[in-house]
Amino acid sequence: MKEDLIKRFTTYVKVDTQSNEDSETCPSTPGQWTLLHMLADECKAIGMDEVTLDENGYLFATLPSNTDKKVPTIGFLAHVDTTTDFTGKNVNPQIIENYDGKEIVLNKSLRVVLSPEEYPNLKNYIGQTLITTDGTTLLGADDKAGVAEIMTAMDYLLHHPEIKHGKIRVAFTPDEEIGRGPHKFNVGAFGADFAYTMDGGPLGELEYETFNAASAKITIRGNNIHPGSAKGKMVHSAKIAMELHSLLPEDEVPERTEGYEGFYHLISIHGDVEETKMYYIIRDHDREKFEAKKANLQSIVNSLKEKYGQDKITIELADQYYNMKEKIEPVKEIVDIAYDAMKSLGIEPKISPVRGGTDGSQLSFMGLPTPNIFAGGENMHGKYEYVSVETMGKAVQVIVEIAKRFEERA
Ligand SMILES: [Zn+2]
Repeated sequence: MKEDLIKRFTTYVKVDTQSNEDSETCPSTPGQWTLLHMLADECKAIGMDEVTLDENGYLFATLPSNTDKKVPTIGFLAHVDTTTDFTGKNVNPQIIENYDGKEIVLNKSLRVVLSPEEYPNLKNYIGQTLITTDGTTLLGADDKAGVAEIMTAMDYLLHHPEIKHGKIRVAFTPDEEIGRGPHKFNVGAFGADFAYTMDGGPLGELEYETFNAASAKITIRGNNIHPGSAKGKMVHSAKIAMELHSLLPEDEVPERTEGYEGFYHLISIHGDVEETKMYYIIRDHDREKFEAKKANLQSIVNSLKEKYGQDKITIELADQYYNMKEKIEPVKEIVDIAYDAMKSLGIEPKISPVRGGTDGSQLSFMGLPTPNIFAGGENMHGKYEYVSVETMGKAVQVIVEIAKRFEERA
């Protein structure tokens, strides 16, 4: 299984599938189509049924049930794209066998070194096989580790008919990194009762709580006039923006929050006297606090409108996704099954609230409850990204074990 995982993973990461938020198409980039077509062929080659790749780049496949019992249909999902933050072109994966716990020189000429002093998690992998970058690109373990794990688990189950399971659906999806992953996901056509994204980080991660998320676009219009004759006439939009920001709670920002603490995050501000544009995101796990944060920003804007004129400021508030917990809690057994599956494999489950969203946060609200399970990657989205083959192997076992457990309890 180890060789299969390495072969699959190193093949997938060599395809440049970086997504692009400026693109209007779905998938947003042609490289994703390349990998999706490769995966469709592979699904057929290993013997999966109902392999479909729709016009939006959603690849579905089925592993038919091999039991007489009536078992819920479960799905496993992974995304094929990589982040916009760092290049995924010409990825050249390096395999380090039997890792000794010391520095790993990723790139000698560029002096890029992956060191356990900076990244102490490396110490968890002594004796294991690591896959790293060559120091010039990201690796793409997020989420090609998940893709390789699901494919390998399906291949394994096809070769082990003695392991009984219900119908399993697999989905490989585009554009997660630009937040569009679930946008064109056809939940009806997928036809699963529950699903899991294999898109978490290190061993044991199990997540079913995410932020509630909204964005706010604020435009402030000023009035520019020669500063020599500006008295009583100039309206300075950038200064109104500074005033607006100063009215938000100082400590509710990403750099001062953790755990279940939410925030307002000023992503960008561009402006001068005449016009200033501000872009905020608002995040909170708690739905009431989330609504209160949006209301607070709105009322700050209202008070500034009173002060400077109704036409001076506009705000566009839009919800982006919600905490999936609301949809998972009524079917909490799907988390328990994953938890027990990990335990039985000697993995300590690590449940913590995601300070972000997953594809599952949107899918859960589209009718497909979808917690998230570790895929194994560390230091995602940059040149220090790496993954342990042993962790990927554990993820494969977790998938198999979950499939088994759904059958056993049916
Ligand atoms: Zn991911």
